[in-house]
Amino acid sequence: MTGPDPQVLVVGAGPVGLLLGNLLGTCGVHALVIDKRARGPEASMAIGLTPPSLALLQTLQLDQSFIATGVRVEQAVVHGDRGTLGTLSFRTLSGRYPFILALPQAKTASLLEIRLRDCPRVELRRGVELVGLEQDVDGVTAVLREGDAALAHPVRCAFLIGADGGYSRVRQLAAIAADTGSYPQNFAMADFADHSDLGDQAHLFFTRHGSVESFPLPMGRRRWVVQTGERLDPIPTGFLAETVRRRTGIDLNGCEPFFSSSYGVGWLLARRYHRGRIVLCGDAAHLMSPVGGQGMNVGFADAAWLAALLSACCREGAAAEPLLAGYEQARRKTARIAIGRAARGMWLGTRQGRLAGLWREPLLRLLLAPPLRERLPPYFAMLTLPHPLPPNGCSWQ
Ligand SMILES: Cc1cc2nc3c(=O)[nH]c(=O)nc-3n(C[C@H](O)[C@H](O)[C@H](O)COP(=O)(O)OP(=O)(O)OC[C@H]3O[C@@H](n4cnc5c(N)ncnc54)[C@H](O)[C@@H]3O)c2cc1C
Repeated sequence: MTGPDPQVLVVGAGPVGLLLGNLLGTCGVHALVIDKRARGPEASMAIGLTPPSLALLQTLQLDQSFIATGVRVEQAVVHGDRGTLGTLSFRTLSGRYPFILALPQAKTASLLEIRLRDCPRVELRRGVELVGLEQDVDGVTAVLREGDAALAHPVRCAFLIGADGGYSRVRQLAAIAADTGSYPQNFAMADFADHSDLGDQAHLFFTRHGSVESFPLPMGRRRWVVQTGERLDPIPTGFLAETVRRRTGIDLNGCEPFFSSSYGVGWLLARRYHRGRIVLCGDAAHLMSPVGGQGMNVGFADAAWLAALLSACCREGAAAEPLLAGYEQARRKTARIAIGRAARGMWLGTRQGRLAGLWREPLLRLLLAPPLRERLPPYFAMLTLPHPLPPNGCSWQ
């Protein structure tokens, strides 16, 4: 690696690190983004982009290309054991984006990576792994290993950002402890060609045998997620289609999935979001159950705050410590609330057995009828999560 030292080193080119790189580039901060993977992942995890994330993308003039590539989900239909319980409409949301945008995470990352090429002061280097770090009062020295090279070499930066996911090496190297927990539920998911008549709606089936969630995807595909008793690795052939048929009555027409995976769920909240000039962002700072589709969106809001803060420090010489304390307090609070929401959503949706149906269905009918029904779309669109703004004078625009 040659050239002057970057002001900011972002470890991790997942969606959150890539968004942060773009925001830093927009405000003229000199940054290096590294990722140990030679290529972006093809597997898709997140598929839901909420209105606050789309508003952020709009500041990069990216919202319209995202919307043109994804599917606008304007309604979610909720089903119980004996039919439809109600419908949730995002059309009534105020603001520019009255919908949730369904777009596979790999596509989100790829659009952000392409946009990063327009930022002359930001460089993305793939196949580069962070293996060590040390910090002093003026900054951080990161030890990076490139490709298969036996030798690692140092890079000096004023701030090092850990956007390196749930198993964050940065979090470990900075000795930042985290509170964690796990849930007993497991899930299997796959993307199929969509021959259903479910259209652009999301469909959520809460049955006594377990949940099934179904979301439209671009290119005529549909994501199906089923709750399983144990983690299935590998997922037996035909298991997903058969489970969907049994629980919902929908026939996936013998299609082969384009992609499938199984996962268990847990949560994590870092006790601190920074140690000196080493700062956590995205999944490195917080993990939550994917139920409710919040993780990446919370990470995007972290990145926005952090870009404003780093711009103030790197370009205007603002004192870092008070701004970092504010970042930690505000963003950690939001993550804690989101973790709680995901846990409650999962508890409600995954109770099994006849008894669960007896109390869940009347409860859901109540929630999906006026006047409570009007409160749900802003909640699921993450408009009611606290997204306080960085202090005055901090902006990436
Ligand atoms: C099944 C599932 C469905 C989901 N659905 C949604 C949804 O609909 N909406 C939503 O908002 N969220 C969802 N999520 C959560 C979402 O996928 C994550 O929140 C998101 O991936 C976090 O992005 P990130 O950039 O913080 O971390 P990651 O995507 O994990 O990226 C971290 C990057 O860091 C790199 N890296 C790691 N260590 C190093 C190192 N030492 N050196 C260099 N590079 C390193 C990795 O290679 C990786 O590319 C879902 C998650 C799952 C599992």
